[in-house]
Amino acid sequence: MIDLRSDTITKPCSNMLEAMLKANVGDDVYGEDPTVKQLEKKICDFFGTEMSMFFPSGTMANQTAIKLHTLPGNQVITHKYSHVFNYEGGGGSFNSGVSFKLLDGPKGIFEINDMINAINPKNFYHAPLSKLVVLENTTNKGGGACWDVEIFHDIKKVCKDHDLGLHMDGARIWNSLIANKNNPLIYGENFDTISVCLSKGLGCPIGSVLTGKKEILKNAIRIRKIFGGGMRQVGYLAAAGIYALNNNIERLAEDHNKAKQIAKELKKKNFVKELNEVETNIIIIELIENCNKQNIIDFFTAQNVIMDWHSMGLNKIRLVTHLDYTDSDHKNFLAILDKCVI
Ligand SMILES: *Cc1c(COP(=O)(O)O)cnc(C)c1O
Repeated sequence: MIDLRSDTITKPCSNMLEAMLKANVGDDVYGEDPTVKQLEKKICDFFGTEMSMFFPSGTMANQTAIKLHTLPGNQVITHKYSHVFNYEGGGGSFNSGVSFKLLDGPKGIFEINDMINAINPKNFYHAPLSKLVVLENTTNKGGGACWDVEIFHDIKKVCKDHDLGLHMDGARIWNSLIANKNNPLIYGENFDTISVCLSKGLGCPIGSVLTGKKEILKNAIRIRKIFGGGMRQVGYLAAAGIYALNNNIERLAEDHNKAKQIAKELKKKNFVKELNEVETNIIIIELIENCNKQNIIDFFTAQNVIMDWHSMGLNKIRLVTHLDYTDSDHKNFLAILDKCVI
């Protein structure tokens, strides 16, 4: 089976499992797990942030960030493609009682002027109070596109002037760092809070970290507890994260190369209307009008290839390359694509 649905389907390699088995652990609800502490410190050092906290999922890390930055009735400004709006089960309203102001723009990226226009004037009490801006890098529904990090400083300044928090949903921040050779410290300098996933491109079975300013994150321990994310001897999982940070970041370039090669082949297919310009490990196919999508699904399924058929929209299919999509999978898949006529 060649599984291109997501980079979340990876399983820990034997070296990662060994690191997990050897982890020195304690009760992290008491703040006594040395391996969790080590992971949190490593993330702080990496991004130049003051404080970090381990979470079971990226969704919980993002939801905690929204809770920390807002009060019920406040508004969050984000792109209409964003994960926090589309794929967190309505958590923004459920957990924090916030509404979203949605911005447009290609590939899940918005213009700073649109963001400025979206901020409700503070004394205009008829409108919800704007309180938080959320960026996503790389963009998921936007096809793995990367923000130009040069704009972060300007965005930060606008947020500061308008008393808005600034959160980065960095589930795939690693892909962006590698694709653009950016210095991770740029993130710590500009964002109040940053969530990162260890369980996507980096190949961990579970785990996310919320990192950022101490002034904000000092309250995260209570929110995480309320959300049910206080975990006990979780150093076994943090050890996987440490292993992944040490070993699996640089190699993301391989996933990006494979995705670019796949896109090149896909462009030749007559069922493809458009493809995103592949910057990292995500390919989103937009199908031609009147295309029989089921025929495509049936063809690839019969060849033991699965993709994300539905979550990006009815006329779209998403493919994601990852750690467990091997060189031989890649060779086989390119051959399948070559002979594919639908
Ligand atoms: C996957 C993802 C998350 C978090 O997902 P979990 O499955 O809860 O870990 C957040 N943001 C983006 C952009 C994602 O792709």
